[in-house]
Amino acid sequence: CGIFGCVGVADAANFVALGLHALQHRGQEAGGIVSHDPEQGFNSARRFGYVRDNFTSQSLMKTLPGELAIGHVRYSTAGSKGQTQIRDVQPFFGEFSMGGAAIAHNGNITNADALRRELIERGSIFQSSSDSECIIHLMARSLQRNIPSRMEDALRRVEGAFSVIAMTRTKLIGVRDPLGVRPLVLGKIGDGYALASETCALDIIGATFVREIEPGEMVVITAEKGVESSHPFRPQPSKFCIFEHVYFSRPDSIIGGRSVYETRRQIGVELAREAPVEADLVCPVPDSGTPAAIGFAHESGIPYGMGIVRNQYMGRTFIEPTEQIRNMGVRLKLNVNRALIEGKRVILVDDSVVRGTTSRKIKEMILDAGAAEVHFRIASPPTAWPCFYGVDTPQREKLLAATMSEDEMRDHLQVDSLRFISLDGLYRAVGEAEGRNAKCPQYCDACFSGEYPVTPADMIEKGFKM
Ligand code: 5GP
Ligand code: SF4
Ligand code: MG
Repeated sequence: CGIFGCVGVADAANFVALGLHALQHRGQEAGGIVSHDPEQGFNSARRFGYVRDNFTSQSLMKTLPGELAIGHVRYSTAGSKGQTQIRDVQPFFGEFSMGGAAIAHNGNITNADALRRELIERGSIFQSSSDSECIIHLMARSLQRNIPSRMEDALRRVEGAFSVIAMTRTKLIGVRDPLGVRPLVLGKIGDGYALASETCALDIIGATFVREIEPGEMVVITAEKGVESSHPFRPQPSKFCIFEHVYFSRPDSIIGGRSVYETRRQIGVELAREAPVEADLVCPVPDSGTPAAIGFAHESGIPYGMGIVRNQYMGRTFIEPTEQIRNMGVRLKLNVNRALIEGKRVILVDDSVVRGTTSRKIKEMILDAGAAEVHFRIASPPTAWPCFYGVDTPQREKLLAATMSEDEMRDHLQVDSLRFISLDGLYRAVGEAEGRNAKCPQYCDACFSGEYPVTPADMIEKGFKM
């Protein structure tokens, strides 16, 4: 999901809408905004679909006045599977004795089922099926006398991945889980401040990037006092999601002081070194494979070309929740540039192979267009484990790499060769010159390694074997 908030700017909700639009790649199913104005109190709007189709209407935006607002774009990983229901669309809102608060959560709470059972037993009335709603109920039960302290209380009970943006009547609050699995950045705009999942959302509103919120850090921001920082959790080695670098974040964002685009290009360079092959054309599977293909072409000296053209009016395929839509998606979204492909030995570069549906369809399209050979080069290691921290990978059985070796996957996809970047190669590309520290990996890489930095308690209860 994508989250955004700002304080101390006129018509804050308009900035939030713009920020969410820049974060649309993190969630396309639905979006919501909550704003606060001293005269009109809290207001909220939650809608299905794209930000640009909802939060551009002046009649709607007029209902969200105030200098303080937060928002969320949703992509379902937890809660209602398949069709998103409006009750699951964030931000969530709670009324406490000291006033109201709204929260927007990116990530996935790994003990949400257990917490929900406990809270319901003690009288909480849940409104949604979302894991994130637990945070509001835990806050309601806290005995602390102000909302930030209640949030701390609540989040200390929560396990898993959370970047949270919250607001009260006067405060904008940002928190990152102790491992810092999901991103969260701070920006400055005029006399006000903004919090966002990624820096690309600061750029769109003309905010300057100040810094990342640190893993385990809480910031409480008011127009008057500025940013107050605290570290409410026990410090732990950070485990930022390495897949944000590979796929999830936008290439024009800066993460950990590094351009995501440059990291992806470097993945392509590493891949060309690790798995060279003779060919006539390096072709990305757009858009997610593009920077890595540019790096691969540069390093190998093989010409780069747009052998596959993407229809810009389609969303990201994997973010569509049902299998049926996903299957159609490939053809609706991608078409082969026959004039470029015919008779050529083609290297196709993509970011990941998950179920293998995309790769199989693309291979067929490329062969139909008369390619002489098809070689796949993949910018991440084989995805052999599901993610429980906010990326929607399918169950283990549906992951191609969970049941097949690299050679078996090559035969299954019927391509001339198939190679994935190594874990060490990926770590080098994100700036770890020595590669992966096996004793204490510098990132979360559980979907590739099976080493989960947080025990996925709910899933284990449901029979998942680590
Ligand atoms: P596949 O067809 O192998 O299931 O999906 C791979 C394609 O989906 C890749 O081109 C990639 O861009 C996109 N994708 C990236 N990340 C994920 C993810 O976490 N889950 C899924 N299902 N697809 C992803
Ligand atoms: Fe990211 Fe993979 Fe870890 Fe999920 S399991 S947080 S996608 S690295
Ligand atoms: Mg892709």
